[in-house]
Amino acid sequence: MNFTRLFFSCVLCLVAIHARSQTPIQLAPEQQRFYSIYKELVNINTTNSVGDNTKAVLAMKKYLLEDGFTHEEIQIFEPFPKKGNLVVRLKGNGTQKPILLLAHVDVVEAKREDWKTDPFVLQEDDEYFTARGAVDNKSMAAAFVSIVGQLKREGFQARRDLIVALTSDEEMSSVPSNGAWWLLKNHPELIKAEFGFNEGGNGQLRNGLPIIQRIQVAEKMNTSFKLEITDVGGHSSLPTANNPVYPLAAALGGISQYKFPVKISEVTKAYFEQSAKFESGQLKEDMLAVARDVATVEVLERLSVSPLYNAMLRTTCVVTRMSAGHANNALPQSASATVNCRLLPQDNIQDIEVTLKNVIGNERIQITNLIQPMPSPASPLRADVMNAVTGITKKMWPEVIVVPFMSAGGTDSRFMRNVGIQMYGVSGMFYEPSDLRMHGLNERVLKKSLFEGRDFLYQLIQQLSVSG
Ligand SMILES: [Zn+2]
Repeated sequence: MNFTRLFFSCVLCLVAIHARSQTPIQLAPEQQRFYSIYKELVNINTTNSVGDNTKAVLAMKKYLLEDGFTHEEIQIFEPFPKKGNLVVRLKGNGTQKPILLLAHVDVVEAKREDWKTDPFVLQEDDEYFTARGAVDNKSMAAAFVSIVGQLKREGFQARRDLIVALTSDEEMSSVPSNGAWWLLKNHPELIKAEFGFNEGGNGQLRNGLPIIQRIQVAEKMNTSFKLEITDVGGHSSLPTANNPVYPLAAALGGISQYKFPVKISEVTKAYFEQSAKFESGQLKEDMLAVARDVATVEVLERLSVSPLYNAMLRTTCVVTRMSAGHANNALPQSASATVNCRLLPQDNIQDIEVTLKNVIGNERIQITNLIQPMPSPASPLRADVMNAVTGITKKMWPEVIVVPFMSAGGTDSRFMRNVGIQMYGVSGMFYEPSDLRMHGLNERVLKKSLFEGRDFLYQLIQQLSVSG
């Protein structure tokens, strides 16, 4: 049946989305459309092992065609089998540069036996949608498809092109070869934009009520070093002074005690300023001291006890793997460790390597950098984006405060920031901190929050595509 006819003949009807619910969410037609897109996307397994990302983006293409996009406007690239990427562009009048809407469709592996229900079939109860990818990041991928589809049907006149890029292999991207990185390398003209939106910044609930809307504007850079030391070995009954395990252990002990210098950016200041509103006592005072540039050594030490605040204040390095020896009764011939570092955007790899060498202080230990981190400068707190996010947030959730932040983990936004596309991680979807299950078991999102998030993103994209 022709979708458009079906859709508009039903403009006034509200649809209850499932029978079991005592208080079903009443869906408006666009929400129902979004729900169909989301459900179909989630139900396609897109894991690296057995999944099919190309099937997923082809399913999205079907909806885009129904909404009026032509085959020529929707491009699918499959650099590797079953690892397709989709790019579609809703043309504006060209007076302003495009906005990029980026979302990966691949998901982390999930074992059926570990989950309460089948991770690759969308489960619904009164409150939640549960499945692998229900949040990360099929929630935003489906939202972007439904939003540009709606704008296309509405004949929306934008000043900026809206580009949706649905990508593969984000979850594999410690060494990038596909997805956002591949598109940028092979078809930069298709996704070049002035700024864009991606995952990375979810809202926070406290006791079920939304309190913070996070907008990710920067992220730390990820790199690893291998530390290695060797010896001739020998019989364990005749210990020598050259056993490689002891100096390696001493070096790691030194790294565990070392703290990289604190560097406070505008984003970190803004984060502490806003977050202080939810705290009290000493913590509140300490946060405000950072925000006002008057933090003493004692303040920074108190804040650094929290792994999260510590990660926001400085570059960190931590041992993640070790191996040594080859038999219980032999002197080790080698000992090695992997040290993973997360660099502040304003730090650089050469300085960190020099610091590590100094901290280790042992010429016998060889240090090799395993991955070159990609520079990822923070996106500016540009007024149009911040005002739009704040204004729509205030309208939808009057009590919620918008907090810009730098994430300790990585997203595909780093590739875009590296070439000058300002990226913002914001979803309008809210989660309890104790219920963040992305990459974990029984990944789920509150239904209410998913639909509100889609509405938030629709307003945000619509408003910014006519601004400037
Ligand atoms: Zn993700």
